[in-house]
Amino acid sequence: MEPTRFSSDEAKRELDANLEALLAELAEEESEKDIDEAMEREMNSLADDANAGDFGEIPEEVLAVQELLAEEKKEEEAAALEDEKEAAEKYETDALEEAEEEAKDTQPIRRVEDVKDIAEPVILMEDVVKDFPNGTHALKGISLTIRKGEFVFLVGPSGSGKSTFIRLLLKELEPTSGKIYINTKDLTRMKRRAVPKYRRGIGVVFQNFRLLRDRNVYENVAFAQRIIGVPGIKLRKNVNEMLRMVGLYEKQKSFPKELSGGEQQRVAIARALVNKPVILLADEPTGNLDPKMSWEIMQLLEEINRNGTTVVVVTHNRDIVNRMRKRVITLHKGVIVSDEKKGGYSYER
Ligand code: ADP
Repeated sequence: MEPTRFSSDEAKRELDANLEALLAELAEEESEKDIDEAMEREMNSLADDANAGDFGEIPEEVLAVQELLAEEKKEEEAAALEDEKEAAEKYETDALEEAEEEAKDTQPIRRVEDVKDIAEPVILMEDVVKDFPNGTHALKGISLTIRKGEFVFLVGPSGSGKSTFIRLLLKELEPTSGKIYINTKDLTRMKRRAVPKYRRGIGVVFQNFRLLRDRNVYENVAFAQRIIGVPGIKLRKNVNEMLRMVGLYEKQKSFPKELSGGEQQRVAIARALVNKPVILLADEPTGNLDPKMSWEIMQLLEEINRNGTTVVVVTHNRDIVNRMRKRVITLHKGVIVSDEKKGGYSYER
């Protein structure tokens, strides 16, 4: 069938009609815009007058619009704040992950002794106070810096605040006031959900070993790796490396009750280190060991420290502290009473 054809006159008429409609539409839009702008100008001038005090009473409609605008602004600000908070949280979690990755990749420092004084702070406390609800002032303004690669003894009589110190570092407690930075991260501002991951980045060893009784040596160490999802081959390699380091590779099938106290503590140390933490906290690690075993454990901690891990040891073991000639921080009634570079065990003198 032939397509319908218009004469040139018809086509022109149609074009003109379309053009007219378009122009009318544009004019309407333009005038709507003009009206909007005029209204806004009027509102502003009324509001200015009102603000300047020239205007007796502000008309209701102006108030309503002002209220509406203020509410909109508030909502916008709240949304922006929410976005900002979310971004900050994400940044914090990402930064933590990054730091953990970095820590994993960090190679041991060749000569720790040479860099200790200039190395970056791993633990930084600023005027940390801890009061318990029962009124006990456990820590009364602790300020200190422990740098990467340091080996530090924390000593002091019972009740001086050592455990509180450790629990603050593990974020098991919050300081009443003051700041704690771990690897330059503000611990007091860390989000609750970032805490488990943070704790996994710190190796901890206790007086009573805290091993899983129903798992063998290998499994006790591997457990720490499984939690963070290390894949099989890598896990085996890491666990074996740790067992060799603590001298228990041959005993990997043994259960804790088949081991001596010293050996159990070695397993605990291997477990604390297998995730390659930057800090190793040892809370009375030799408290249940005889002098020979205690000395062996300390030598192991020293070797770990020589390989670059920062080590903080809480202890009552006078002989060991005196023999090791390491930095000794002494607490007494919640206050640092001495902090010596190559110190001895002095608080009972
Ligand atoms: P240390 O480890 O040097 O023996 P702690 O840090 O355990 O000392 O205790 C310091 C002080 O804080 C002590 O007086 C102790 O009784 C008190 N303390 C510790 N934990 C608590 C708690 N959860 N509630 C109340 N007081 C506490």
